[in-house]
Amino acid sequence: MRSSASKEPVDRVGMLPAQLITRKRDGAALSAEEWRALVAGYTDGRVPDYQMSALLMAAFFRGLEPAELDALTDAMLASGSRLSFGAGVPPRVDKHSTGGIGDKVSVALAPLAAACGVAVPMISGRGLGHTGGTLDKLEAIPGFRTRMTLDEARRQVERIGCVMLGQTADLVPADRKLYALRDATGTVESIPLIAASIMSKKLAEGLDALVLDVKHGSGAFLPERERGLELARTMIALGAARGCRTVALLTAMDRPLGFACGNALETEEAFLLLRGEGPADLRAVTLALGAEMLVAAGVTPERDDAWRRLERALDSGAAAAIARQLVEAQGGNPAVVDDPAALPQAPRTEPWLAPRDGYIARVEARAIGWAVVEMGGGRRVIEDAVDPAVGFAITAKPGDRVTRGQPLATIYGRDDATLGIGRRALAQAITIGDTPPRDVLPLVGWRVTERGVEEL
Ligand code: URA
Repeated sequence: MRSSASKEPVDRVGMLPAQLITRKRDGAALSAEEWRALVAGYTDGRVPDYQMSALLMAAFFRGLEPAELDALTDAMLASGSRLSFGAGVPPRVDKHSTGGIGDKVSVALAPLAAACGVAVPMISGRGLGHTGGTLDKLEAIPGFRTRMTLDEARRQVERIGCVMLGQTADLVPADRKLYALRDATGTVESIPLIAASIMSKKLAEGLDALVLDVKHGSGAFLPERERGLELARTMIALGAARGCRTVALLTAMDRPLGFACGNALETEEAFLLLRGEGPADLRAVTLALGAEMLVAAGVTPERDDAWRRLERALDSGAAAAIARQLVEAQGGNPAVVDDPAALPQAPRTEPWLAPRDGYIARVEARAIGWAVVEMGGGRRVIEDAVDPAVGFAITAKPGDRVTRGQPLATIYGRDDATLGIGRRALAQAITIGDTPPRDVLPLVGWRVTERGVEEL
């Protein structure tokens, strides 16, 4: 904590951070210059964590005016450099999820989309709250580097069509700090804060188009569909105003996506998908988002054609080949794409059996996500190291007919304590009823564009 620094006015706005916090707390809108000064001051350490936490909490409760959201997003974007590409690089397009459990789509989709002729310069985040993060999943691969210079990232995109990296001192450093701070201070679930975080990262990538996977359902940061739609519209407007064509799909997060939940297990499942296997729901969401990417980037005007191109890239092995190049280029062993044994393994596993006959009513994604964190697969505090090997493979899906004693999941633990956490979480998360549930969300339910919302 730098208490002396916090007594200086923030840059030229002539106000102490404490005065700006008080104004935001009391419902006033801060000016663009004030947001710029606060974000710049926080990024370079003049505004300490405790003041930024208070400001975030004020913004959480008071919300941000549209002009404040623009200013915050632009200030976060301006905190670092942007990737830029010369002529001859294919259209740049990315996808970003608002956060889920078992959501390993990015790990598979970056090489898959690159195999279909677009360039994917993907900046991702770490685990946030109960949700996993792409960077943690990638770093489960021994040796995989998610930090690199802008030049390295640009050259890799030019060479193999994709790169997957994190925020750095060069790239949206403000989001790196704010993201970790929000994770630890209960300030994640806010439409403007999520929108500014995601769009500042994505706009720094120098994209032509962006596809957003907005999660809704009990495991999402914003469970209600209306809030998901509002988040989608907010991010689409931010993108469109900055020259990046942005489209969103609303997808289900009332249960985990795929089977695997936990970093190395999810990376393994993403590679399984690239080899033409893997759970059907994961494949469906990945292809739906991929098809939007190819259409948004202008590869083809038809979603059906885009879908076929993606399937061909999976079947022909082209997508897996790019994944091997990506892993090798970023310091990992490319054999990991084909050989799960090259990933960290949990020392203990235990099956979890259906306690009764019936239909799976729920698999509560949020409870599963928190259990992975508790088992060591996520962070309680910013400094925590992550155990890549722990987690679950949950094959039960809402609506499945099951019989007593049937295996529904496997727990991957490090010791008795982590297996115990896993057991308790599954008992709480998986409920079995006498009839099939009626309230299961559609896997891919809505498309949102600048023109409006379309039910799929
Ligand atoms: N993903 C992000 O990158 N930021 C958020 O705030 C939430 C999800």
